[in-house]
Amino acid sequence: MDGIIRRYLWEKWIKVKLINEGKLKFKVSSIITVLLQKSQDKWHRSEKGAWTRRLIPQIEPWLSRKHDETTFHLSQTLSDHGYFSKYLHFIAKNEDKRCWYCDEDDSPEHMLEPENVISVMLKSAESWDIVVAYISEVLLSKEDERRLLRAY
Ligand SMILES: [Zn+2]
Repeated sequence: MDGIIRRYLWEKWIKVKLINEGKLKFKVSSIITVLLQKSQDKWHRSEKGAWTRRLIPQIEPWLSRKHDETTFHLSQTLSDHGYFSKYLHFIAKNEDKRCWYCDEDDSPEHMLEPENVISVMLKSAESWDIVVAYISEVLLSKEDERRLLRAY
């Protein structure tokens, strides 16, 4: 008899628990949706980070990405800092803001397509790694160029 009651209570408890977990999951996902929307609104209203916002107009795909190995060079590129002549010129560390090889401003935009680079990176871990390797290669060569420039 006790066994039957215990089993009944156990099954009842499991049902209540599953219903509550379902409600909890629904509440959590609703809260996440609201938070994401608020973050997205704040992201659009921000006066800073125009370059990063141009790269990442929608934050949800970026925040839910499966691969995320960020490197020093990737961070520099996403934030429009680092060994780009335009940035170095802005912080008074370089006289010229143009590329060494052409007359365009040397910035991350000079080496990337801002409208699609992030969507390419988010496609797969392999795509992510290829873009990150490309960025590192370009920035390492820029660092070499600056070293050469200082040597003469
Ligand atoms: Zn160039």
